[in-house]
Amino acid sequence: MSDRYAVIGRPINHTKSPLIHGLFAEASGQALEYGAIEGGLDDFETQVLHFRRDGGRGMNITAPFKLRAFELADRRSERAQLARAANALKFEDGRILAENFDGIGLLRDIEENLGEPLRDTRVLMLGAGGAVRGALLPFLQAGPRELVIANRDMAKALTLRNELNHPRLRISRYEELEGLGFDIVVNATSASLTGELPPLPKGVLAETRLAYELAYGKGLTPFLRMAKAQGVARMADGVGMLVEQAAEAFAWWRGVRPETRGVIDRLTIALE
Ligand code: NDP
Repeated sequence: MSDRYAVIGRPINHTKSPLIHGLFAEASGQALEYGAIEGGLDDFETQVLHFRRDGGRGMNITAPFKLRAFELADRRSERAQLARAANALKFEDGRILAENFDGIGLLRDIEENLGEPLRDTRVLMLGAGGAVRGALLPFLQAGPRELVIANRDMAKALTLRNELNHPRLRISRYEELEGLGFDIVVNATSASLTGELPPLPKGVLAETRLAYELAYGKGLTPFLRMAKAQGVARMADGVGMLVEQAAEAFAWWRGVRPETRGVIDRLTIALE
């Protein structure tokens, strides 16, 4: 029997993870099965434990279970600890290991696939939720000149800054961004999921080279439309991040890092 993996979330019907991991397995000659499980709000933990009992080797975790997966684990990576969330689990020697590859997946997409190294750049990240938590450590390690977090709820942003306590990390209210310029702006809010635009002051994207939208498959979101209107040279959505975090998990489980370019191209929907 081949090794078993699965993604668990709620709802799970739109997940692309089985397709992505299936393509990785095929391309790297790995024999594995990868399924999708609709998580239950009352029995998520039991579902994970049963999957492991039945021979599962690892799982991807998506909304809304990342925090519960983190809590269920016996060991957690530094990235997962900072994010207080797990997006991947590995079952090994009777233990549950937790990782969070969302941030490193986002960083790889920006630096490797889009060719925009963060070193010495001015980066603005919108939001202070789970995705930002996961991204902060890899982003700061990439050496930006400054990393500014803007969020409506400043208490959340303040907690993040205090936890990291890094000299190049600043937090800001949206209105305080007026008159500032950034090379790379990442929309890591969930505003696009409801067709909304974070309350960015006009002109804040005027010096921006790359506008990155974490949501994917939605075409030009209000944020990307704003970027286009302000003449931002390059726009991207989160499909590359999705594939890159999957590649990190695949490498963690299988010891082989799959090629991602072809898979990203296959899943990309034009932004226009
Ligand atoms: P969370 O629910 O943890 O955080 C949501 C964040 O969005 C909060 O900071 C919230 O601000 C902010 N927000 C929501 N609505 C608005 C609005 N109208 N204006 C301004 N800010 C708003 O979500 P996640 O961090 O988990 O996910 C964020 C986004 O990233 C989602 O679109 C998700 O789909 C995407 N994502 C993409 C991945 C990929 O692989 N491409 C992986 C993970 C996430 P406040 O605190 O002020 O309420």
